[in-house]
Amino acid sequence: MMDQLRATFARGVTRSLDWRRGQLDALERLLRENEAAIEKALERDLAKPAQEVLLGELSLLYSEIKHARKHLKRWTRPRRVRTPAVGQPGRSWVQAEPLGVVLIMGAWNYPVQLVLSPLIPALAAGNAVVIKPSEIATHTAALMGELIPRYLDANAVQVVQGAVDETTELLKQRFDHILYTGGAAVGKIVMKAAAEYLTPVTLELGGKSPAVVDAGADLESAARRIFWGKCLNAGQTCIAPDYVLVTQGQREHLLDALRAQLHAMYGDDPLASSDYCKIINARHFKRLQGYLDGQTVAIGGKADEQAERIEPTVLVDVKPEDAVMQEEIFGPILPVLEVPDLDAALSFIRERDKPLAAYLFTRNKAHEQRFVEEISTGNLCINDTLMFMSVPDLPFGGVGMSGMGQYHGKAGFDRMSHLKSVMKRSRFPEVSVRFPPYSGLKMKLLRWLS
Ligand code: NAD
Repeated sequence: MMDQLRATFARGVTRSLDWRRGQLDALERLLRENEAAIEKALERDLAKPAQEVLLGELSLLYSEIKHARKHLKRWTRPRRVRTPAVGQPGRSWVQAEPLGVVLIMGAWNYPVQLVLSPLIPALAAGNAVVIKPSEIATHTAALMGELIPRYLDANAVQVVQGAVDETTELLKQRFDHILYTGGAAVGKIVMKAAAEYLTPVTLELGGKSPAVVDAGADLESAARRIFWGKCLNAGQTCIAPDYVLVTQGQREHLLDALRAQLHAMYGDDPLASSDYCKIINARHFKRLQGYLDGQTVAIGGKADEQAERIEPTVLVDVKPEDAVMQEEIFGPILPVLEVPDLDAALSFIRERDKPLAAYLFTRNKAHEQRFVEEISTGNLCINDTLMFMSVPDLPFGGVGMSGMGQYHGKAGFDRMSHLKSVMKRSRFPEVSVRFPPYSGLKMKLLRWLS
């Protein structure tokens, strides 16, 4: 497989803009012609409602494809930069070139989007690609394995299926870039394997993304948007608000607003709602149930083990040292912690690993500015959750323990390219100032030019 991909790349097939455009068109056709099959696979893996398939998977892909097609020519064009006096007469520019063979490893929670969204910049940048879907989302992985070779150039894009053993073997191959999405523990395995060939990596990891509800915030809007971000895909979203920090005196009002929103979205029995996803498998169901041990449930709390469903559940009186505050929850459980004020909320976040996303609900401009300046996070959103994902020009990725490297839009294209520096010098006139023999006069001239 690798020999075939390398040969395709070496022949220059993937470099032509026509090939790149053709592949982006084919990818769009793959999605448009198979929406029903994709919905069915996601229904079987996660009980994902059709509307969430459109919102969380397909529409993001359609928008990324459209954006890449529109800007492809500009992104691939030489990017002129200024040449200083010492380099004159001459011209300098940055030329994006494809890297070679890129490995994309997806996670199970958005099993279509997380393999195809990195594929868009990988193809746009002119690379050959190996795709490794997550084996945990069984039906979607099988569907990706069936559709991708039917629509895309099989000499340049291949799918490898499998779990730990197969992935371990795959990682022994030499790639020119690896984009991995998943947890930090496997991220370290990927990075170690990549070190063998000094392969650059993009790690799209997770973490505990906080949502802060500031004094005077619009609580109804905050509750609706926090719950939407938390309940989409039953909380199995890397950028879902993991926990809430609410400033003193507002907790009960926020809980009332959350209760009302839960009812408005999912009715009397969220477990029976067809608008609400299931937990991916029994292992994750048990892990999430474990977080409820010894906790005070303010809202929800019911679960159906058979159906692997857990109600949107709000916990109160949670202590920072409790298990639920140690790891990313990655499920529909929302601890609400009370803090004295914004300063305390900022300290709480800063004392922990840098998150993948951070949210602030406020009406206060100065607080908004402080949050943006003082919180180091992969992505940040004021007065909403998740919505920054819909902006193709916003690079997406983590920082610190939430990951490294960004993609989406131009950032993705650049990530999947080598940005080669090029300088072209004119042969005349030849200014001898840089050549030996050195002299006082040359030194003076050099100083003047520097
Ligand atoms: P996962 O179990 O699907 O694993 C991810 C990938 O790693 C899969 O392709 C899997 O086959 C492979 N893998 C698993 N074990 C391996 C091993 N020992 N050696 C080599 N490869 C191995 O996904 P997960 O880790 O459960 O994903 C959940 C995490 O991913 C959460 O932390 C979430 O926040 C994060 N996530 C991040 C993003 C993002 O874009 N930043 C998106 C979705 C999920």
